[in-house]
Amino acid sequence: MSSVDGAPAFVDTSWNGIERIAAMTINLLGLDQEALRGFCAGLGEKPYRARQLLRWIHHAGVDDFSAMTDMSRPLRERLAKSAAIAAPRVLRDTTAADGTRKWLLDVGTGNAIETVFIPEVSRGTLCISSQAGCALACTFCSTGHQGFNRNLTVEEIIGQLWLASRALRSRAAHTGEVRTAQSAVRALRSHDVHAGEERTAQSAVACLGRGVSEERPISNVVMMGMGEPLANFENVVAAMRLMLDDSAYGLSRRRVTLSTAGLVPGIDRLGEACPVALAVSLHAPNDALRDELVPINRKYPIRQLLAACLRYLSKAPREFVTFEYVMLSGVNDSVGQARELAARVSEVPCKINLIPFNPFAGVEYVRSSPEAIARFRDVLMRAGLVATVRKTRGDDIAAACGQLAGRVQDRTRRASVRQQELSQ
Ligand code: SAH
Repeated sequence: MSSVDGAPAFVDTSWNGIERIAAMTINLLGLDQEALRGFCAGLGEKPYRARQLLRWIHHAGVDDFSAMTDMSRPLRERLAKSAAIAAPRVLRDTTAADGTRKWLLDVGTGNAIETVFIPEVSRGTLCISSQAGCALACTFCSTGHQGFNRNLTVEEIIGQLWLASRALRSRAAHTGEVRTAQSAVRALRSHDVHAGEERTAQSAVACLGRGVSEERPISNVVMMGMGEPLANFENVVAAMRLMLDDSAYGLSRRRVTLSTAGLVPGIDRLGEACPVALAVSLHAPNDALRDELVPINRKYPIRQLLAACLRYLSKAPREFVTFEYVMLSGVNDSVGQARELAARVSEVPCKINLIPFNPFAGVEYVRSSPEAIARFRDVLMRAGLVATVRKTRGDDIAAACGQLAGRVQDRTRRASVRQQELSQ
């Protein structure tokens, strides 16, 4: 299939859920500045057009070339003939009682992925998926239980941010949320808020927070949705470059976090290609237990993983790595394991984020009690570590950590093997 300077050209994109676009049309959504320059050169246009296009597509959220009013009409018509701006189709859009919002997106051939927006007082965080399913099979993760279908393309990854930015912006504009935020804050402070109004007030307050505005409701991105981002390295890095590009989303490297189950060579490559904030799913203080919970540990054991974290820190925009640790009752939450963990990570500048386990159908683990979690955190803190407990958000719509499932046509046959095991 021919393409302009390596940019993908689509003959029929119905296979990946992005609306069918005409033959030999290029989807500009997934092109970074360099690729767009190549596309513009192919049209005989100057390089600055690439920046213009980026601004229209990602700043303004435009998908219609006729709206690009600082370009001549003939150019807009040529663009409309040779290109399109197309994101995955929204299948479902749900908002939880706490304001967390989840989109289910069609990525074709029976697969659907999930994207979650988490509004907070001081920031708005978008949790993005990188794969349809996941091949790593961590035993406590719902996505892992579903098996794996394929890597997401750049436009499917950045398309999640594009769609969410548009949806949140139009919602803010429609409800006048930001304009009424000040009075919402006053109402909240005076506790003069009826139950039904509280949610609107909370999200209005969230918009007022640092880095969040009517224009930019999303201040942070975490690559913590479905999939293992480092297993889809090229596409994830290309999408993150768009997130960081001032002409696109202009997020700082410190506000883009990639979470990995511990693909050691990928961590090193990321340090070279696109250093952003790093989170590592540790979940166990020793290899025997981690081998069981996070099977990729058999390939890259804890010692190698911690060494990779140290190497990464010399390139990273933050001076620490975040270790995620899911709290599973009776499995990894004892005082002895907390001490072992503290000793194990003592060489690595880090923060430890304890995640109360979020249950899902067909899994036998139980969430640690609040007392067990507090005890575990106290042991870490007495050892001089920074430890926090992640607040569970959106669990009433299955949008919390580890609950994202979407719809995956498993190609690894893992899900069917599990089903057989369960029914025995
Ligand atoms: N594959 C990447 C990113 C996706 S998971 C990774 O492993 O880091 C994002 C975070 O949610 C990880 O820390 C993961 O371990 C955690 N998680 C997965 N299942 C969970 C569950 N059921 N409850 C709580 N956290 C979970």
